[in-house]
Amino acid sequence: MQGFSTRAIHAGQEPDPITGAVTTSIHTSSTYAQDGVGGTRGGYEYSRSANPTRTTLQECLAALEDGRHARAFGSGMGATDTLLRVLLKPGDHIVIPHDAYGGTFRLIDKVLSGWGVEHTPVDLSDVEALRAAIRPETKVVWTETPTNPLLGIADIAALAGVARDAGASLVVDNTFASPYLQTPLALGADVVVHSTTKYVGGHSDVVGGAIVTNDDDLAAALSFAQNSTGSVPGPFDAWLTLRGVKTLAVRMERHCDNAERVAEMLAGHPAVEKVLYPGLPDHPGHEVAAKQMRRFGGMVSFQTAGGRDAALQVCSNTQLFTLAESLGGIESLIEHPGQMTHASTAGSMLEVPDNLVRLSVGIEDAEDLIEDLRAALDTLG
Ligand SMILES: *Cc1c(COP(=O)(O)O)cnc(C)c1O
Repeated sequence: MQGFSTRAIHAGQEPDPITGAVTTSIHTSSTYAQDGVGGTRGGYEYSRSANPTRTTLQECLAALEDGRHARAFGSGMGATDTLLRVLLKPGDHIVIPHDAYGGTFRLIDKVLSGWGVEHTPVDLSDVEALRAAIRPETKVVWTETPTNPLLGIADIAALAGVARDAGASLVVDNTFASPYLQTPLALGADVVVHSTTKYVGGHSDVVGGAIVTNDDDLAAALSFAQNSTGSVPGPFDAWLTLRGVKTLAVRMERHCDNAERVAEMLAGHPAVEKVLYPGLPDHPGHEVAAKQMRRFGGMVSFQTAGGRDAALQVCSNTQLFTLAESLGGIESLIEHPGQMTHASTAGSMLEVPDNLVRLSVGIEDAEDLIEDLRAALDTLG
């Protein structure tokens, strides 16, 4: 198999056979001429069903996740919803991480529950806890690793074994790691989901999602479901994502370099009570992360010693770290999960500590990022 960056730049992306154009074209046509009824020229009829720019993105994403099939969606939530509607029926049960992405929790807790799907939040860093939560109706085990925003680590190969014994599908939301750092299908997962809005796109300029699997029947069911429900990305969005993904490896290396240095500074600062970063040797998931990830990622969370008010103050005192939701872009972001990304979990089992701050460490110069954070923390006295 070719190396990661070679695949990112070339998989599915041959120069155009007619014009020689080296970059993928943005095919805006909604419909395609047919040579006689039912006689398509390149397999394209209508752009909801399939679009050439989207196909190129899908081939590239499948290659990066070591998967046979990828489907690109209009958002990560569009991908998640379509996948869950294919995998679950009323009466089924799903196990989710106890600190699942807020939007995934909301979809399962507020939308799918009304449709008769039950869920159990579990700390999936504990394989025995998963085994205990499995019921005869459990059809899906949903996991994220590292988790958001607590950066917990789940052992993908171990969870895959439990899910397989139970006849359930293991889905890994690989958004935080990106395929450069971790390829869950190779570890036994059945399906990988991405919010390509984050590291895959990488420039905070496009919203998108993807599903990757080796299962031919599931891929066909996803195509049918996507065409039926319509959660497709536009061709311009597919092209922007493709443009972003070509540099994923170089960006991730820099995200990881910077995050390691930021985590180290935070760990030594008196205004910080605890740093959550799987790259730190005292992180409870460090060994598992070292086994299944190439490096430890660009997300760092920490808890302030001065409680919620200190956390809120740090979030408004940084200059370079922009106070904003989302993650995975080239620019550094800071946020307060309790009142921002994870506000929908308030009062539930998934509620996050109120002194928690989450950083998406960008690819600026590490010295500048460290100076900015240190200055914001120093004001806490
Ligand atoms: C952002 C995100 C999603 C949702 O993706 P959208 O593109 O915003 O719809 C799902 N999972 C994780 C881990 C995310 O960070």
